[in-house]
Amino acid sequence: MKASQFFISTLKEAPADAEVTSHKLMMRAGLIKRLGAGIYNYMPMGLRVIRKVENIIREEMNRAGAVELLMPVVQPAELWEETGRFQKMGPELLRVKDRHERDFIIQPTSEEVITDIARQELRSYRMLPKNFYHIQTKFRDERRPRFGVMRGREFTMKDAYSFDRDVEAAGKSYEAMYAAYVRIFERMGLVFRAVAADTGAIGGDRSHEFQVIADTGEDAIAYCPDSDYAANVELAEALPLIAQRGAATQALTKTPTPGKSTCEDVAALLKLPLSQTVKSLVLATDEKNEHGETLKTTVWLLLVRGDHSLNEVKAGKIEGLKEGYRFATAAEIDDHFGCKPGYLGPIGLKKPVRVIADRTVAAMSDFVCGANEADFHYTGANWGRDLPEPAVVADIRNVVEGDPSPDGKGKLAMQRGIEVGHVFYLGTKYSKAMNASYLDENGKPQLLEMGCYGIGVTRLLGAAIEQSHDERGIVWPVSMAPFSVVLCPIGYDRSAEVKAAADRLHDELQAQGVDVMLDDRGERPGAMFADWELIGVPHRVVLSDRGLKEGKVEYQGRRDAQATVVAAADVGAFLK
Ligand code: ATP
Ligand code: MG
Ligand code: MG
Ligand code: MG
Repeated sequence: MKASQFFISTLKEAPADAEVTSHKLMMRAGLIKRLGAGIYNYMPMGLRVIRKVENIIREEMNRAGAVELLMPVVQPAELWEETGRFQKMGPELLRVKDRHERDFIIQPTSEEVITDIARQELRSYRMLPKNFYHIQTKFRDERRPRFGVMRGREFTMKDAYSFDRDVEAAGKSYEAMYAAYVRIFERMGLVFRAVAADTGAIGGDRSHEFQVIADTGEDAIAYCPDSDYAANVELAEALPLIAQRGAATQALTKTPTPGKSTCEDVAALLKLPLSQTVKSLVLATDEKNEHGETLKTTVWLLLVRGDHSLNEVKAGKIEGLKEGYRFATAAEIDDHFGCKPGYLGPIGLKKPVRVIADRTVAAMSDFVCGANEADFHYTGANWGRDLPEPAVVADIRNVVEGDPSPDGKGKLAMQRGIEVGHVFYLGTKYSKAMNASYLDENGKPQLLEMGCYGIGVTRLLGAAIEQSHDERGIVWPVSMAPFSVVLCPIGYDRSAEVKAAADRLHDELQAQGVDVMLDDRGERPGAMFADWELIGVPHRVVLSDRGLKEGKVEYQGRRDAQATVVAAADVGAFLK
């Protein structure tokens, strides 16, 4: 490739809205161009990096046995209604109408569409396991788009979905994807860590995030250098409660009525004497608009101090509770328990209430979250009967470097990370909602066991740059670089010899399959070098009349302090 045919557009200064290094450098190197908040043009130089990233991902996904397809960006709302996500997902989901006033969404992810494909196509156990993936544009109307492509609204994701016959097979698919992710991020030369993670809006039980370690990362990671304990602090808050949920056995026979249930209803359903261990109960209700978006979450707290039954409370027999019981306001809850009402959304335990031994119990793990949302109940809740004492529940939200690790195997260390990948075991959450089943050996229909696996393709550019740059610009690992070698002839437009040597070397390297760029723009050496250092090309070869007279060129690696003189004839071999 010759620079004159390509498009290079570098800037001396980064725009004022660029806060972090990667965003600044991506703008300055001309990789991206802003079109709107969180929406970018990928310019030719940036697109080359994206293609490299995609190819690595493709190779490793194919190697792991996944098959590529492509699902539409615009998806009919009906499918999203089947799982309830059309209503349930908040304003991050972009909803649009066509000319017939039919509802559509711009995909933030594709569980519904792939499950729809699977229920039509994967009819027999003989067709399993299957793992489908695509690399496709996503849209999420992020509350706070920032850091350039790292938190965009439109971005590219690789998302894969596995279908298996049972839990055990699904576990194997999960492991295969986990291993593929390790290979992918290793090939990109990234320093990363796989951490246990919360499952967020997608749901499911088993989940790991791949976090690129960087001070500017939005996620906090706690890990133990002496063991394999590593968790996103978000999860660490949820983990103990998830564990309690697993241990609880008291299945609900009925579910509370959406939007109408009170603490008493739920207590009655649970058939639990509330008097013994429960000291406070929390109930969240949501107010929604006609799109099903949550406008407001109100958190009600029923304070029951000491060992009192609900009836006693109601009858006003509790000291200090004048009208029997009272509901605290969201502000009071925040004040008292240090938890924001937003933590109690309809989706569940995204951010549970902090468990404080003598003030509240694990009430959040039961009816509360989602009692007003079908299918989001934490059924089988158990308010304190078999629960571990709250005091043993690990709350690492406020941990600092050096605190003991929850696994008891050492001390915790903290890091910040950028989530570049996420693997989830979904179970039958989607196959159940959409009735996606296959026929087993006995001709009996069984629900498909699913997993989903995402990688932030465009976010990876930002993450890699956060990890690898210097004062002059980006330092790409060879596997991601837009070009692996740049030839910088001095006087390409003046010297026939330089031109001939540069052209020859360019053709030779190209024939060898090296991704080579020849800067034939005739720029002054200083400006030319500065451009390629900013863009971050890993290898540079300078050709000049003086050197060529002795049959020499200068080679300099992007991280090298000095150039090395190399025989012009050997450059091809030298770069291999
Ligand atoms: P985050 O916690 O950063 O919002 P997420 O957990 O919502 O990410 P997932 O649903 O797990 O994201 O999507 C899979 C991957 O897509 C993420 O691991 C991340 O790399 C990428 N991704 C998610 N949101 C964005 C975004 N707004 N811009 C760029 N990449 C994103
Ligand atoms: Mg998100
Ligand atoms: Mg996340
Ligand atoms: Mg995630």
